[in-house]
Amino acid sequence: MSRGMEPDGQTRRAWTAAATAFVEDFVAGLADAPASGHDAPVPAGLLAPPPDGPGEFGDLLARFGDAASRAIECAGPRYFAYFPAGGLYSSVLAEFLSQAVNRYTGMAAPAPAFAALEHSVVRWLCDVFELPAGAGGLFTSGASIATLAALHAAREDRLGGPDPRGTLYVTEQAHYCVAKAARIAGLTAGQVRTVPVDAALRLDVDAAAALIARDRAAGRRPFLLVGTAGTTSTGTVDPLADAGELARREDMWFHVDGAYGGAFQLTARGREVLTGITGADSITLDPHKSMFLPFGTGVLLVRDQALLRAAHAATGDFLQDFERDGWPDPADLGPELTRGYRGLRLWLPLHLHGVDAFRRALDEKLDLAAHAHQALTAAEGLAVPLTPDLTVTVFRSPAGDAATERLLSRINGTRRAYLSSTRVDGRHTIRLCVLSVRTHKAHVDEVLEIIRHAV
Ligand SMILES: *Cc1c(COP(=O)(O)O)cnc(C)c1O
Repeated sequence: MSRGMEPDGQTRRAWTAAATAFVEDFVAGLADAPASGHDAPVPAGLLAPPPDGPGEFGDLLARFGDAASRAIECAGPRYFAYFPAGGLYSSVLAEFLSQAVNRYTGMAAPAPAFAALEHSVVRWLCDVFELPAGAGGLFTSGASIATLAALHAAREDRLGGPDPRGTLYVTEQAHYCVAKAARIAGLTAGQVRTVPVDAALRLDVDAAAALIARDRAAGRRPFLLVGTAGTTSTGTVDPLADAGELARREDMWFHVDGAYGGAFQLTARGREVLTGITGADSITLDPHKSMFLPFGTGVLLVRDQALLRAAHAATGDFLQDFERDGWPDPADLGPELTRGYRGLRLWLPLHLHGVDAFRRALDEKLDLAAHAHQALTAAEGLAVPLTPDLTVTVFRSPAGDAATERLLSRINGTRRAYLSSTRVDGRHTIRLCVLSVRTHKAHVDEVLEIIRHAV
């Protein structure tokens, strides 16, 4: 056993074999793993400070495994809360490989082929959304950072920088990451306007037009309209075509938050539901949601990459050795400089499994969500207030909030499934999202049985 920080080949192989064996047991065990365990107490041993001398890999792996078990089982097939992805094993390997070679990819020049490979995925996504030749984008940690970059680019492009009169428009169903990005970017709460939604919880385009006109007359400068392609609470898709038209008419930047729903553009049904998304100035997607990747990968796409670059490009004397005119430099397109090589996390699964595998999986989730909606609508003792646009179904007890909360506790208390809740029409409402790559018909039928039994 080598004792330095650079293990010899034999030690490396032993550690890797142990880690691989752990992962193999974990993945194979997911089919029957408890759906939750996050309420178990955290052992005090996890707080132990690092020792001065070396530890044993096997002991530490066991400690890791113990910590992993005390959690909601987000990777398992009966996780229906929030936005389940599962976590493609091919993407796990992509991360292992890219971290092992440790190429510098903040800029393109130090590893141009890596930049090209990542760019090929961005370009392919731009084609999926029918964005023009000058389009481009960036891999981020998730939609929150992607939204911050989009908001900053929109403000630079439409207002020429910070302006207290600048105003952006979201609905009350939009994800709070837009308001948070606005706060980070220095906008006041008054610069973020909330547009009403209609009875189906969709952006009311006429109300937005009226509010924008009123604001303009009052001396404000409306610069950004945000539509959501699949809201977080209910998976509802805003009228993106009409919203985009309004934004263009008003010379505003049109951003579509497709963190959850955007990837459904890969399917024929999804394209129908998302009509109008192709008119966006920027789109966020979360491959760690609807493209089944492990957590930590978001994407920002922009119609005109030059605008993203104009808003973010910077340089320093210490970077003078690098040409900056080849493949796009990721650091010039967003807030980060040094970053992980996120593109491989999507490139490897796409090339290994093929795009049809993603289309089929997304179509399967749409079918399963429709099946769940139908079954819940037919079930005794449940109210189902909305028809899903994508794969989120919401339901509640007609007896009120407390009864709905108890119902959710009974469902999750079985530890055979895990669901989450939200508020719809001001009422406590359970949401069931079918999205994990590991969730199939038998799992949905099982959770439906659990729900019917818990009512
Ligand atoms: C999840 C989500 C976000 C936030 O994305 P992160 O990747 O968690 O930062 C933004 N918008 C919508 C619609 C979402 O569902």
